[in-house]
Amino acid sequence: MKWQVSSATAALDFSEEGNARNRLCFRQLLKSKSSRNNRNLPLPSIGVAKLKQLLDLGVSNALDLLRFEDVIGVFYSRRTHNAKLNSWKAEADQYFQKKKQCLKDLAKVLAAKKAEYKAADQWHGIEDALAPVTEEDSGEEDVVSEEAPASLPLLFSSMTDPCGYNARFLSSSQVNCKQETESRHCKPMQDAKMMGLSGEILKIDWPYKVAGKIYVYQGPGQCFKPFTNMLNVQNEDGLTIAWKCTEGGESLDPIRGDLLRLKRWNTRLNTTTKGIHIDVCCKYRQGLKRIFGQHVWVKLDVFHWMRRWDSILVNSKLEKGAIFRTSMSRAVFLTTSDEYEQAQRRLIDRRVKKDPNDKEWRPTVRQIMKEGNSMIPEPVILQQRVMALIRYCKFCDAETDILIASRPEGCEDPLPLCFFKKSMEAENIVQEQMSHVVKGCLSDPSDLSVHQRNPKTGLFYCRRGTSSIESDHRGRFKLWF
Ligand SMILES: [Zn+2]
Repeated sequence: MKWQVSSATAALDFSEEGNARNRLCFRQLLKSKSSRNNRNLPLPSIGVAKLKQLLDLGVSNALDLLRFEDVIGVFYSRRTHNAKLNSWKAEADQYFQKKKQCLKDLAKVLAAKKAEYKAADQWHGIEDALAPVTEEDSGEEDVVSEEAPASLPLLFSSMTDPCGYNARFLSSSQVNCKQETESRHCKPMQDAKMMGLSGEILKIDWPYKVAGKIYVYQGPGQCFKPFTNMLNVQNEDGLTIAWKCTEGGESLDPIRGDLLRLKRWNTRLNTTTKGIHIDVCCKYRQGLKRIFGQHVWVKLDVFHWMRRWDSILVNSKLEKGAIFRTSMSRAVFLTTSDEYEQAQRRLIDRRVKKDPNDKEWRPTVRQIMKEGNSMIPEPVILQQRVMALIRYCKFCDAETDILIASRPEGCEDPLPLCFFKKSMEAENIVQEQMSHVVKGCLSDPSDLSVHQRNPKTGLFYCRRGTSSIESDHRGRFKLWF
């Protein structure tokens, strides 16, 4: 500390020759600047030649430079006048002020250290060490201590202090290790929890697929794919009752054993699986029936069926796409008049319960439709409703075609868009979609209600479809990225 102060004092020495470290003395600065080994020297705009010139004029240090008045006009230039000299003076002043501040700060620190040392020298025990603080608190500075907060928050201790509140952190490898071991400890508990859940309606989906090029590297030339997709089975409440990472495509073969085990768990919990929602209904129906029994119905998830219409729409993102989706949703989901009135009643009751004076309030049709428990009608009615919409859209497309054909030449209005693409593939997709409707893959089961009332909140929730798996997938995606 003392050495630092002496160095700072030397830096401000204005004797003729100056100290070796004194950059403000121009003689020393000239020596430093002549050598190319020195960098970051002060006064960067004054070169060796200028320094020599200044020394000849009797300017031997930065202070002299500040006092120097260029009466004979050595550094005067017709273009810039005294700008050059003034900029040097500014540089010198800045450097000088910096050094002065540095010395001041160091002197302060030295004084504080000296006082601390003096105090520490007088301590004889821990009571003595604490004494100055307690004395101050109770003594002269009573007025000050009243204003100060009663107890100051504890300061962070140093990084290596094992007894203090040191801000230690885990390295990434430690975090990985922790995650690995915790997952290993948690897994038996999770498995036990899952084994305690039963499922009347199962929702099966393969929501997560690994990109084709991803392999696990074990060594040169040794790569393998541990799994390609993940199976997720949920029950009607959207609780996962089984999951498995599988190899190969979406197939029943690798999961047959697991599904049989699931059936056994259900039997042990006195529950019989009545139905399954899956996105490939007709393909897996027989296989699933063989596993769970012939009484089980296998239905197609409506969300997947709805999404498949997008491929035949000219542009699913534009207005007509939105109109088609909304209309299709109204065609598929039917709210009976009884249910409509019940939903209206429920909404009004809920409102009155919240605000007893608001008896005149009536819900909008949109609110009632949202509240009402819609059902998917039986195949014959559903086919009629869906076909009516398809025919209407095709009729609109024919009108649009006439409109396009009869357009006057040079008309710059944007071309009106059709609903459907005109191709063989589009026709095939319509046939394929309708085949599921006819087979009853979408219609609600007759033996089971797809709506369940929450006894606590009184609200209804839907047990149909695999949407809960999709939202689960979205949640997992958010967690990872
Ligand atoms: Zn089907």
